[in-house]
Amino acid sequence: MGVKSATEIITHSMTEEDPNKNIQYSEGELAKKPRWGPEHAGAKELASKYTAGKRFQETVCLFVSLILLFINFIYLVIYFDPSQWHMILLCALLGIVTADFCSGLVHWGADTWGTVEIPIVGSGFIRPFREHHIDPTAITRHDFIETNGDNFAVVIPFTGYTAYQFFCMTPQDIAETYNWKMYIFLLSVFVSLTNQCHKWSHTYFGLPWYITLLQDMHVILPKRHHRFHHVAPHETYYCITTGWLNYPLEMIGFWPCVERLIEHLTGSKPRSDDMAWASKTH
Ligand SMILES: [Zn+2]
Ligand SMILES: [Zn+2]
Repeated sequence: MGVKSATEIITHSMTEEDPNKNIQYSEGELAKKPRWGPEHAGAKELASKYTAGKRFQETVCLFVSLILLFINFIYLVIYFDPSQWHMILLCALLGIVTADFCSGLVHWGADTWGTVEIPIVGSGFIRPFREHHIDPTAITRHDFIETNGDNFAVVIPFTGYTAYQFFCMTPQDIAETYNWKMYIFLLSVFVSLTNQCHKWSHTYFGLPWYITLLQDMHVILPKRHHRFHHVAPHETYYCITTGWLNYPLEMIGFWPCVERLIEHLTGSKPRSDDMAWASKTH
């Protein structure tokens, strides 16, 4: 599939409207057409699946992850070599680009495959993605823990490993692997904050001026850019940290290409669970 033209997408995306408005309904179905937003039957059911256990897991992971990030940060400051500033800058840039790609890969995977019924992963991980398509503004009502808990959890193995290395390695070994550790640290920071950037892209009121400025400069995910994704059937613009990779990936047809391959190998239909939730009426 080629790149969708900007006008084609923008005409469908000028406002935060019904994300399912491109779905064709018969007259009978139209009468009971699901409304998007918090009143949508599917959105209500998905929101009710956010349990106290899940909340506890998110809180613990966020706490552990912040401690590990802090330990890494302290060691990186201690071993900082100002003469290496250009390498550190390069690591920061690579960290952002990698985080953007990872955000697209995970988002695409969760949007396209699997179901909410899969044990543990379904209700814990896939559920928020289904909810987000039929109630895109729900994320703006989530607090810091619910918004970011999963992302902070994902980086724990990496920051845990580098923290362990800082404790065990000799100063010389640390100096030799410093750039790699800086890359992992900045990648972890950007991955951790991905859903916060995503939340800001849905927030139209009350954002601090510097966040709006970062969005306008396209340093983080801009509002208008992310609207391209929120057009049913949600098959494009998956990267949500900065969104820098969305256009290049669209241009080479990256996601449709991988989808065709997986469909050919497994027989699974892309986005079948997502569409089932979108058309839920009771
Ligand atoms: Zn999505
Ligand atoms: Zn979104």
